[in-house]
Formats: sequence, structure tokens, C-alpha cells
Amino acid sequence: MGLREIEARIAAAEAAVGRPAGSVQLIAVSKVQPNDRVAAVLEQGQRVFGENRVQEAQGKWPGFRERFEGIELHLIGPLQTNKARAAIELFDAIHTLDRPKLAQVLARLAQETGICPPLFIEVNTGEEPQKAGVLPAAVDGFVAETRAMDLPVQGLMCIPPVDEDAALHFARLAGLAERNGLAGLSMGMSGDFERAIAAGATHVRVGSALFGERDYG
Ligand SMILES: *Cc1c(COP(=O)(O)O)cnc(C)c1O
Repeated sequence: MGLREIEARIAAAEAAVGRPAGSVQLIAVSKVQPNDRVAAVLEQGQRVFGENRVQEAQGKWPGFRERFEGIELHLIGPLQTNKARAAIELFDAIHTLDRPKLAQVLARLAQETGICPPLFIEVNTGEEPQKAGVLPAAVDGFVAETRAMDLPVQGLMCIPPVDEDAALHFARLAGLAERNGLAGLSMGMSGDFERAIAAGATHVRVGSALFGERDYG
């Protein structure tokens, strides 16, 4: 599916629930995609991209940034503390703040460098043991903790369990964000971004629907 088609579906989903056009940001998830596919989407004008590994993004994006103006890069995958410095240098937003230790490291780096991109706290809305993220019951406390550290937390992010109705998880995340006075909601992927928009998503992370299936070969 092309970029224009995804944009049209986002616009239709915004209109369907009476949200202003342009209130949802499309993050084009380019992880694992070959450079020619990414370049094609850049040529069509898309500038906001998501990657889930620091190292892969480091190899791929400096070159694109030389060729295209105004690229905005979002980290949507797990961040190890030993890669936090590289991450704040490369990324314009981090969607995976998922534990106090990482918050402490980012706060220390922010003090030292004066740099901290906007952050989203990842919430494990399905309370899945194998998944990263703050448990719903711990969100209020963690938000307060990050505010006390002066971290620029902009919103919440979730990846719903694959075998459950995503809409329930989107609603749960929206409720947690509202209760904490957070405006950003990073939720919705290729299979469910319209439902996420209906539930209030401000950032949708769309990969395979835009670029085609990822080939992990
Ligand atoms: C890969 C990934 C996406 C994109 O998934 P698609 O189903 O290909 O749209 C979105 N969010 C996160 C966190 C991802 O890792």
C-alpha cells in the first residue's frame, strides 16, 4: 500500500470521529526494510520514521539525513541503558521509556548534555510477562517519578497483545494518559491504526502496510 493511501486512511479515520485533519502523526516504521523502499517513501515526502534498534538506525539514517531535509526519527524498540547516549544523539523521540533505571540514565544524560528528546512511557497494558513496559497499576507513580526528574514525558505508548481486542488496550492507555494529564498516545500499527485513531492516538506506527512485509531472511 502506498504512502498516499495510508495518509488517506488516516484522514478518513480522523474525520470519522470528528478529529481535526492532521491531528495524527504517521510514523513510518522502516526497521529491516531495504534502503530503496525507505528512499522511495522519503521521495514521496514522508519525513517521520520509526526504528526499533539503535545500531540499525545508526547505520541507515546519517546517509538519508544528508540527502533529505527535516527527517524526524523515533525510537520504538527497547533501549538498553548502555545505548542511551547514542539514542539521544540520533533520535528525535523515544517511545520506549519502560523502567526507572532507564529514566535515571536519561535524566543524568539530559543534565550532562542538555539534550533529551520527547519521551513516551511504554505501558504493558496486557500485563504480559514477556513484554516490556510499566504495568498499568504502576503508571501514575512512574509518571510522577519522571516529572520529578524533569524528563520531557509527552505521552504513553502500548503494543497490545496479539490475541486480544486491541481497542480495549487503546482505551485503557487513553484512560491512563488522561488521568495523568498526558496528551500523547503512541498506539496503532498496520492492522489496527484506524481503531487506535478512534480511541485518540496521536502517533500511529505503521510498517508493513506501508513498506510491505519485512524480510528477516
Ligand atoms: C515493528 C513495529 C511496528 C510496526 O508494525 P507493523 O505491523 O509492520 O505496522 C509498530 N510498533 C512497534 C513497537 C514495532 O516494533
